Amino acid sequence: KSKDLKGYAPICLGLEDFYTRRLYLRIQDCFSRPIASAPDAWIDVVERYSNDNNKTLHRTSNTTKCLNLGSYNYLGFAAADEYCTPRVIDSLRRYSPSTCSVRVDGGTTNLHIELEELVARFVGKPAAILFGMGYVTNSAIIPALIGKGGLIISDSLNHNSIVNGARGSGAAVRVFQHNSPSHLEDVLREQIAEGQPRTHRPWKKIIVIVEGIYSMEGELCKLPEIIAVCKKYKAYTYLDEAHSIGAIGKSGRGVCELLGVDPADVDIMMGTFTKSFGSCGGYIAASKEIIQYLKYTCPAHLYATAMSPPAVQQVISAIKVILGEDGSNRGAQKLACIRENSNFFRSELQKMGFEVLGDNDSPVMPIMLYNPAKIPAFSRECLRQNVAVVTVAFPATPLLLARARICISASHSKEDLMKGLEVISKVGDLVGIKYFPAEPPKH
Ligand code: PMP
Repeated sequence: KSKDLKGYAPICLGLEDFYTRRLYLRIQDCFSRPIASAPDAWIDVVERYSNDNNKTLHRTSNTTKCLNLGSYNYLGFAAADEYCTPRVIDSLRRYSPSTCSVRVDGGTTNLHIELEELVARFVGKPAAILFGMGYVTNSAIIPALIGKGGLIISDSLNHNSIVNGARGSGAAVRVFQHNSPSHLEDVLREQIAEGQPRTHRPWKKIIVIVEGIYSMEGELCKLPEIIAVCKKYKAYTYLDEAHSIGAIGKSGRGVCELLGVDPADVDIMMGTFTKSFGSCGGYIAASKEIIQYLKYTCPAHLYATAMSPPAVQQVISAIKVILGEDGSNRGAQKLACIRENSNFFRSELQKMGFEVLGDNDSPVMPIMLYNPAKIPAFSRECLRQNVAVVTVAFPATPLLLARARICISASHSKEDLMKGLEVISKVGDLVGIKYFPAEPPKH
């Protein structure tokens, strides 16, 4: 995060110390809250207490029912589902929780093969490969795709797993201003001439890495413009769809579908199963050649235990529901519901005077707190009124841009959303974070 510290080093270094040694210790109850239920619309939050000035938090066996406004359970598949759950239970009985083997040595089940084919078909690429964890998908695949002599151009707000993968790859890394195709072009122009053939360039290859929905901003990627720049300079594109796949687009096919981009124009599509599909693991979808290459060279495929079979079955079932292949139209209903819920919640928050980041259709909507000292007040007061929210601050965001990150789900009912709005409005007044004048009610 050195960029954030530029010019502010003395103040910020003081703040960093304040954060890690003083503030975080006092507000640790706002983070890593244990829950004792599935991450559905309502959760059981485990109560905690401290008898030593908050230095150590102890758990009680009591739980409090809270409206959950923080999980990535965008389509509601994390809760028991009439189609997914019985199939997952069957797969658990048949395959056990773990393959106890890496993919190449007995860890490939027929479920893994089925899901790879299904993911490729769902995202519109010729082939796909699975990994046990979304984080590892980025941090292990990027070094497998590019190394010394290559150039990575990364959005300034890309996820830490991408930053880690880029750093670990040995390639040169340049950062472009968040979601700015014109700055991306400036960065590319500094490195190569427009139209210069790949074989005559100082870089073996150039990969531009972006996200479909930025997880701390709730913003959609300006993908069509970014792809146009990449084509002009013959750079490869790598798209992380962790938050967008399954959640947006008419049939859930993510940012490409929403913005009318042909998946063939994105070279590498990455995604995770931990959000819209209510499971765990990650995937890369790309050409047959790239996937074949990864299968024989990527250490995370060769040396890490395969994705858990029940987790694979959960994703297969969830995608089938999304595609309507379960014989119902629940998938289409879920997609319509998350869009409606997200747009309603966002516009109501804005009308109340909150500063809400992100774009329409995005289920991620950060409410700006700015001052990190507002985190405990906001988080604790919401919890006291039975609403669980996620607050994020340094180092996940720049120092003075703390925020509450609301995530909306298709499993939220209208009553849930009204309850959330009522509590957030009251707490917002209390904490003083309605930075804009409220819109007068329409008669
Ligand atoms: N990419 C992005 C953009 C993410 O936000 C995350 C985590 N939320 C990951 C990758 C890592 O995925 P996982 O949590 O499934 O490991």
